[in-house]
Amino acid sequence: MSEPSVFTRILNGEIPSEIVAETDNVFAIRDIAPRAPLHLLVIPKTAAYRDVVELAAGDPGLLAEMVSLAKTLAEEHADGDFRLIFNVGEGVGQTVFHVHAHVVAGRFSEGSVGG
Ligand code: 5GP
Repeated sequence: MSEPSVFTRILNGEIPSEIVAETDNVFAIRDIAPRAPLHLLVIPKTAAYRDVVELAAGDPGLLAEMVSLAKTLAEEHADGDFRLIFNVGEGVGQTVFHVHAHVVAGRFSEGSVGG
């Protein structure tokens, strides 16, 4: 068995991070290295999917739940408009292989998100 991901460890309270929203299947935290005024991560509680391609194939309903929570958070924390970014693969900067969406609103700094 592989080591629990950093997000699983946050969910379990082993690494401190405020959980800004939570449903039965999904939770959200602030990115530790924000690239924009609003930069949240929306994460399924399950670590079964390493990226959005696997998630879309394996549980599209769970992907839809992530998008729905992202929209709610963008309305609560910004003006409702947002970018949803999924890094897929190390080559574009994915560092955590537990699928997560970057929810970004407002002007963001140049360069890749995450990584
Ligand atoms: P990726 O590069 O895999 O798409 O995104 C991983 C994101 O997780 C990065 O933007 C990084 O800043 C964030 N991150 C990594 N470790 C932690 C942590 O311990 N706490 C929080 N809140 N974010 C983290």
